[in-house]
Amino acid sequence: MILNTEQTTPACDLADEHARDLKDNTPRESAAETLEALRQAELRYHGIFDNSLHGIYQSTHEGRFLNVNAAFARMLGYDSAEELIANYASIDQNYYADSSVRPHLKRTLEEGGAVRGFECQARRRDGVLIWTRENFYAVRDSVGRLLYYEGSVEDITERKEAELALRDSEERYRRLFADANDAVYTTDLKGNYTSMNRAGEKLTGYALDEILRMNFRQIAAPECIERVREKLKSKLRGEETTTCYETEIITRAGERLNLEVSTQLIHDACGEPFGVQGIARDVTERKRAEEALRQSEERYRELFENANDIVYTHDLLGYFTSLNKTGERTTGYTREEAYHLNIADVVAPEHFSRARQMLSNKRGGEESTRYELEIISKDGRRVPLEISTRIVCKDGEPFGVQGIARDITERKQSESALRHIAFHDALTGLPNRALFTQQLHVAVEGAKRESRTLFAVLFIDLDRFKVINDSLGHPLGDELLVALARRFEGTLRGGDTVARLGGDEFAILLNDLDRPEDALRVADRVLSEIGEPFQLGGHEVFTTASIGIALSTTGYTNEEEVLRDADTVMYRAKAQGAARYEVFDQRMHARVVAQLKLENDLRRAIERKEFRLHYQPIVSIESGRVTGFEALVRWHHPERGLVKPSEFIPTAEETGLIVPLGSWVLEAACRQMRAWHELSPLHEGLKLSVNLSGRQFAQAGLLERITRVLAETRLDPRCLQLEITESVLMDNARAIIALMDELRALGLELAIDDFGTGYSSLSYLQRFPIHTLKIDRSFISERGAQDHDNAEIVRTIILLARNMGKEVIAEGVETEEQFARLRELDCPYAQGYLFSRPQDTAATERMLREGLHSGLFLAPARDLQLA
Ligand code: C2E
Ligand code: MG
Ligand code: MG
Repeated sequence: MILNTEQTTPACDLADEHARDLKDNTPRESAAETLEALRQAELRYHGIFDNSLHGIYQSTHEGRFLNVNAAFARMLGYDSAEELIANYASIDQNYYADSSVRPHLKRTLEEGGAVRGFECQARRRDGVLIWTRENFYAVRDSVGRLLYYEGSVEDITERKEAELALRDSEERYRRLFADANDAVYTTDLKGNYTSMNRAGEKLTGYALDEILRMNFRQIAAPECIERVREKLKSKLRGEETTTCYETEIITRAGERLNLEVSTQLIHDACGEPFGVQGIARDVTERKRAEEALRQSEERYRELFENANDIVYTHDLLGYFTSLNKTGERTTGYTREEAYHLNIADVVAPEHFSRARQMLSNKRGGEESTRYELEIISKDGRRVPLEISTRIVCKDGEPFGVQGIARDITERKQSESALRHIAFHDALTGLPNRALFTQQLHVAVEGAKRESRTLFAVLFIDLDRFKVINDSLGHPLGDELLVALARRFEGTLRGGDTVARLGGDEFAILLNDLDRPEDALRVADRVLSEIGEPFQLGGHEVFTTASIGIALSTTGYTNEEEVLRDADTVMYRAKAQGAARYEVFDQRMHARVVAQLKLENDLRRAIERKEFRLHYQPIVSIESGRVTGFEALVRWHHPERGLVKPSEFIPTAEETGLIVPLGSWVLEAACRQMRAWHELSPLHEGLKLSVNLSGRQFAQAGLLERITRVLAETRLDPRCLQLEITESVLMDNARAIIALMDELRALGLELAIDDFGTGYSSLSYLQRFPIHTLKIDRSFISERGAQDHDNAEIVRTIILLARNMGKEVIAEGVETEEQFARLRELDCPYAQGYLFSRPQDTAATERMLREGLHSGLFLAPARDLQLA
């Protein structure tokens, strides 16, 4: 409750006057004058009473209203004074909001005092409280008795509420100022602090009493002072009212802080500026974060710009949104040009669908992918790239793609070079066996799926390539292979493949043939291409090849089978005389299977010692005396019985089993012959002929083995003759010559077996340390002998041998005519059924014993003569 007794309102003055009038009514004046004066006063008073803007009432000591004016009635919510008086019982009851007011006021008045300017809350008729300002006094008669109380009431509700609202907002502001998180302060125009809130104290580290003795220059960072002054000046010039800027201060602890400051001038009542109010916020952390962000952005930009990889982004529609320098270099597009491009504009057409797939995967939420594709640069170059992309999100929503791409041109090139090396023959550049096998695999699988598909493999092996290599030298041999490769390529169609499998072996895969015969036609063409002479290093070189053909009609399940069969049948072509082709068929296949079995059996036979030796005598034509025996091996097969050498020697040679077999033959024969020598001195001159295969000749340690066998069996080396077939000798002529010399040095003799079937070079024949030529059976045989040419050949061989100082043995003498003719030709020795078939050891020994005392004569067989 607020009591104000100093101020008086005009309404109060009137009331005072009225009271004074009442008091000043003295008996000094006449009754008439008095009455008149009273009437006048009464009139004046009523005028005032009725027209006053303030409410005026008169009440009894108990509070009953005697009289109220219209303003008072309106104030309390009544239409008229009469209505109020009629309805308002007593002011004591509920006029004052505070029930203690009325008794207090009454006491004051009873004690002779007056109440002025009393502010309180009164209740209106509708219960609403209003603020009033009231004056009271008691009206008494001349002897001091109370007549009534009179009060004047002013409705000050509006002013009061405004006052309260102001006070309220002041309080709020004060609290805001005190509790603000931001520093709030004021300075005078010189910059001396005049106030500072708690946040300011905390921020600066200075206590309020310290601050109030300080100027802003003591806190602001030196380089910021001028700026702050400028800001103030501009405000004083009226250029701006509120200025916001960033500045730095140095706290009491010496720490630098970044502040964001907002200041404005404060003015006095007359509108003159007298100071500055500021609000400052510590933005050091934000500044630091901003700086860190800026630095990381700069670093990123630097990385982005200077990366060796292409870095780019594009939106979800595929339009580029960024591209770094490497990207510009690689694509040939400037950044600005790139912004108008879609990825579809740069990706190579055949990779386009993949690129689109990647993009749609990305849109579908796929996170990161790595893939390879080619782009086309601005100048039309194809550039292979390895790309890794990831989706870029903003507020959790994908809005673009970021990609890092690497130019892998070099890698691709070296990969393809490596692939080429891995799958091609270095010499000819043709596909090698690995690549050929791969392609053959595809063909086999295709034929398995679609039985009408027909393919063929031509397995080509040069005949006598070794001779070319040996005689012309390896470099020319290589040249020949390269030239052949080019010719093969020239004969083929697009879908076919020619490969070099190794050495002098080539293979051709013919795909999509119409008929099997087509393969034969190609083989013919290849053969005639090979047959054309090659000009190599000034030489005209001729060569031939044997071709084995495997056809898919055989029904292959894998590529190895095809190659195996083509290889097998190629050997048959060679066996048939070379420079030709042979086709593999099922019968052939059966033969191959039998061959395999033979190999296995042979191996076992050596372990189980299933071999025996037969001996065929060699006879002097002139004397009919047996001069020696040729040892011929026989195989006692547990199931097949006696197997002839022609059935197993070739296999033994191919498999290398001939080496142990040959060793056994040599040793067994030598031991046997030594035993026969010991049988009788008459036998001591008997010679032993042992066949040596080409494979044995190529075997290291042959010389040592023979030396050892001779030593062990104690056979006179002069009694041993080694037979080597003509073809083996000529194919390996150069390599063999030295070995032959060494063998001769041991004291034994060398013979050329089957002479006339190969292509002996006369010069070699001259140089070889050969003792004997054995004329092949084919020139002697019944049919052969009738042939005039053959007879001439035999004559020539005998002459030749004699001229070169060599002995001659005619093989396969079966008839007396043959024998007679050979005798005519002065052929020194003969061998054949006419004298004896090859016989086992026991039979041979029997024959020897029978002729023991007289020497051994076998010519002719029908009257075996013992001298
Ligand atoms: P070859 O060295 O030329 O042996 C002579 C072959 O002619 C023998 O065949 C022999 O039985 C046969 N023969 C002899 N006189 C006549 C005849 O009047 N008429 C006919 N039609 N044939 C006659 P065989 O024993 O079947 O041997 C065949 C070939 O096997 C031999 O030919 C030889 O090259 C090879 N051979 C035999 N034994 C061995 C061996 O121990 N080592 C090696 N490396 N090869 C052997
Ligand atoms: Mg022989
Ligand atoms: Mg022979």
